[in-house]
Amino acid sequence: MSLRIGHGLDAHRLALGRPLMLGGVPIPSDQGLAGHSDGDAAAHALADACLGAAGLGTMGDHFPSGDERWRGVSGREFLELVAARLAAAGARVLSAQVVLVCAQPRLGPFFASMGETMSEALGAPHGTVVVGATSGDGLGAAGRGEGILASAVALLEIG
Ligand code: MG
Repeated sequence: MSLRIGHGLDAHRLALGRPLMLGGVPIPSDQGLAGHSDGDAAAHALADACLGAAGLGTMGDHFPSGDERWRGVSGREFLELVAARLAAAGARVLSAQVVLVCAQPRLGPFFASMGETMSEALGAPHGTVVVGATSGDGLGAAGRGEGILASAVALLEIG
């Protein structure tokens, strides 16, 4: 039995007329995240943190963006696919945290539902995934509202 930590980072540009999905939760906004999939940076960063902790590579290895199979796949579905790979490797998510850099909209009201949705998608107990955010204080592309950045850490038990 071993404990392993992983870190994931993801960013997507904001674009007008797209739905905003973060942590598998729809967020009311006139802009959404652009991408080959639904652009759910929170779910993608968490998926990468989990894969990295388990020594299973990256999202890009498992779900290459050039592969049509993964077009339009939701962040929640990616986490479910990662959960299956973790289970096959004998790995279990003990805890995880996702921190978003997002100038707008305000995400506070959605932290709890994002955490629960992502915990559920990973097949992990209630409260396993915790979500927070910072506005970025106008600094950098995410701080200026050009996109959303997500950083995630995950602690896994393996074997
Ligand atoms: Mg992504």
